[in-house]
Amino acid sequence: MMIEIRELTKSYGDVTAVNSLSFTVGAGRVTGLLGPGGAGKSTTLRLLLGLDSPTAGSAAIAGQEVWDRPPGARDVGVLLDTHGVFCSHVGNTARECLTGLARRHGIARGRVDEVLNEVGLTDAEQRRVGTFSLGMRQRLGIACALLADPPVLVLDEPLNGLDQRGLVWARALFQRLAAEGRTVLVSGHMPAELADLVDELVIIAKGELVAGQRAARLAVRSDRAQVSVRTPDVAVLSAVLVDEGALVEVNDDQSLTVTGLSARQIGDVAFLNVVPLHELAPETPAQ
Ligand code: ADP
Repeated sequence: MMIEIRELTKSYGDVTAVNSLSFTVGAGRVTGLLGPGGAGKSTTLRLLLGLDSPTAGSAAIAGQEVWDRPPGARDVGVLLDTHGVFCSHVGNTARECLTGLARRHGIARGRVDEVLNEVGLTDAEQRRVGTFSLGMRQRLGIACALLADPPVLVLDEPLNGLDQRGLVWARALFQRLAAEGRTVLVSGHMPAELADLVDELVIIAKGELVAGQRAARLAVRSDRAQVSVRTPDVAVLSAVLVDEGALVEVNDDQSLTVTGLSARQIGDVAFLNVVPLHELAPETPAQ
């Protein structure tokens, strides 16, 4: 099932959270929505899920406009705001949360055991959710998203709170879900972590694609050495670096964190495109 976001815009008063954003997410691979805090990731996902209405533009899942879809459709598994979602369930055990959800949605009880096992919470199923670490809440949130065995998964910041073992687990899980033909969209704000986990990235900053749809969708590079770059011309340099196959994150202070090109290559690309550099600093000794 394809996700299509077209010219999506959302303003809250003077703040434009998402600005004319367009991208597509295909089935059978894991797609990352990457951007710094405040980039508009959660807003985009809320609009995609029909939880908020756009100022302009549209979003569709499997060719159907999101706002024409029945509320609570079971073909999309969702993880949003893990902190908030279990607030009213702190006294319940993990198993009780999942059986309650299964009952409300007419899902067979046997599925609860399957998802508990899938997310590695079988041993903790009788613990109250209020005692869970953030990583355990993330796992429980992912279990909720998987419960109906949906063909589409939309997960907002699922990596927050996961330790190294959790990241390895999440990578294997998301890759397997995609290999089964599902559409998996995962947001995150840490380039190296997210890039390691996905097949494709859509990068946004300040509500916009960093470098236009063609360039912002790129194959993830295995070279993870990072270089910190400063330029007065953020938009142009981001665009040309992404064109060269780099992964570019625009940080809150307008510095760039570039993965996939060496400092020397970045310097050459900037020179060839007549973009001034104010800083070019490898962040790992591997450079
Ligand atoms: P991200 O998920 O990438 O951190 P968000 O989508 O949460 O970004 O926020 C994008 C921008 O929109 C931020 O400037 C945020 O303050 C603003 N914003 C998000 N939701 C609201 C809201 N309900 N009311 C006002 N401003 C909002």
